[in-house]
Amino acid sequence: MLHEVVNPATEEVVARVERTSADGVDAAIGRARAAFPAWAAVAPGDRARLLRRFAAAVDADLEHLATLEVTNAGHTISNARWEAGNARDVLDYYSGAPERLFGRQIPVADGIDLTFREPLGVVGVIVPWNFPMPIAAWGLAPALAAGNTVVLKPAELTPLTALRLGELALEAGLPADVFQVVTGQGSVVGQRLVDHPDVRKIVFTGSTEVGRSVMVGAAASMTRLTLELGGKSANIVFADADLERAAATAPYAVFDNAGQDCCARSRILVERSVHDRFLSLLEPAVAGVRVGDPRLDDTEMGPLISAAHRDSVAAYVPEGAPVAFRGTTPIGPGFWYPPTVLAPVAAGDRAFVEEIFGPIVIVVPFADEADAVRIANDSPYGLSGSIWTENLGRALRVARGVEAGNLSVNSHSSVRYWTPFGGFKQSGLGRELGPDALDAFTDVKNVFIST
Ligand code: NAD
Repeated sequence: MLHEVVNPATEEVVARVERTSADGVDAAIGRARAAFPAWAAVAPGDRARLLRRFAAAVDADLEHLATLEVTNAGHTISNARWEAGNARDVLDYYSGAPERLFGRQIPVADGIDLTFREPLGVVGVIVPWNFPMPIAAWGLAPALAAGNTVVLKPAELTPLTALRLGELALEAGLPADVFQVVTGQGSVVGQRLVDHPDVRKIVFTGSTEVGRSVMVGAAASMTRLTLELGGKSANIVFADADLERAAATAPYAVFDNAGQDCCARSRILVERSVHDRFLSLLEPAVAGVRVGDPRLDDTEMGPLISAAHRDSVAAYVPEGAPVAFRGTTPIGPGFWYPPTVLAPVAAGDRAFVEEIFGPIVIVVPFADEADAVRIANDSPYGLSGSIWTENLGRALRVARGVEAGNLSVNSHSSVRYWTPFGGFKQSGLGRELGPDALDAFTDVKNVFIST
């Protein structure tokens, strides 16, 4: 059976992709399991070379991959180029890992004690639709580098770049079945990956709700888990900050990728004494966000992923909602929604509490440092956040006080492939990226040798 892939900027069907059955998933897992011993036995330098070739193949295909993402996900071309480049860089970064999978020699009496970092076997990587290429790469690259084989399930709405990555891996010379891409529904393909006893690890990125059910499912076989889930991050602006810069960049911290970003700073907390001035600076910045044809180099925001998702986002702004101001959208086909600023919003309002995952931000005043930290932490999520202040001591105090995994001071940037990424609280479990990512794709074996 096939399902249709739709361009969210035009509403046209751009591809038809297989809806794999549970039996089809079992077959892919069987092939991955059969391919595992030989892949784990590839000499470290050779595995490194194959991953570098994979990275080079992605680089050579960068413009094609970026264009595919524009067509499939409605991402702006400039974002899509960054995303393809990120997938390349992550492969490159972890291509250095096979030769550095060090164990330890630990002092013991009457012998020696050695530890080894053993690959797990088959790893299932389950990817959401919001950043298909980077999130695929964050799972598959360290998994392969550690000697595991990978079955990757892209989101139903956005399978095209993942399928292309599968082709590029083969072109680069990776052995067949070491990296497979299986398309289809979450409730069938994703669920089977979670339930199958031969899958030794699941890397799941998606909603907290589905993440919870993945955690329950993984318990049956003690399947190892990395969970990267939702967010409701705070952008905290103190009165002593460079307000012009904080306001000029705040729209991009939440409207980038049309707000479909787990790290979106969707709550702007502003010290009360500068609240009105901040809003007056934010208004022209929001009006200036260029929303439109994602194929154009200077477009800054494209459409939402689907009509259903646009309806769910729009439901956060019912008739009479406190819209302070909003940007524009093109007219005509496409799942458009304007950048929207809500203020004032009551603390119990859905827009205050829930992850909207669209271009809507709320602006909330706070009294002092303790109040800012309290509001920021008043959420089940804890993924990222920003702190704007010229006071370094306060920046560090607040960064340590906010319960979130990725914080930035006087910046909105959260993601670098060489630094760790992941959530506190219900935003996730475990860390991806950075120098320690391979820990999550290996089990430590301890061997004592009597002398
Ligand atoms: P989703 O949870 O609906 O789906 C994610 C993936 O899981 C998809 O591939 C889906 O098909 C699959 N899936 C669905 N049901 C499943 C099941 N029962 N078993 C196994 N897999 C199943 O999420 P989404 O709507 O695609 O993505 C948006 C969410 O992802 C947001 O909440 C966002 O915050 C989160 N996200 C988190 C991060 C992070 O790094 N923390 C990054 C990106 C997105």
